Amino acid sequence: MKGGKVTVLNETERKVLNWANRRGLIEGTTAEKQVIKLMEEVGELSEAVLCNNFAETVDAIGDCAVVLTNLAAKLGVSLAYCYETAYNTIKNRTGKIINGTFVKNR
Ligand SMILES: [Mg+2]
Repeated sequence: MKGGKVTVLNETERKVLNWANRRGLIEGTTAEKQVIKLMEEVGELSEAVLCNNFAETVDAIGDCAVVLTNLAAKLGVSLAYCYETAYNTIKNRTGKIINGTFVKNR
């Protein structure tokens, strides 16, 4: 992974990366293929949410996280790094909820 861009990985991210590396998944895939896989998993997540299926929703969120972990690794960063970067961007953002969606102040 790229120096300085790896924040602390949690234990599950570590396990997922070991699992993916043992299968040659990070080495053998492309960012584009992982984005397509992510869309497939997001589709499953959408179906689970729309069907009000809690167990399938939890499973689909996890599957999305696994694919995002692999995509981040392919790009040389950790998912934790991406997550922290996003948090640092949003942490001071202000706005309000309109029809169930957070609309940020400009
Ligand atoms: Mg799935």
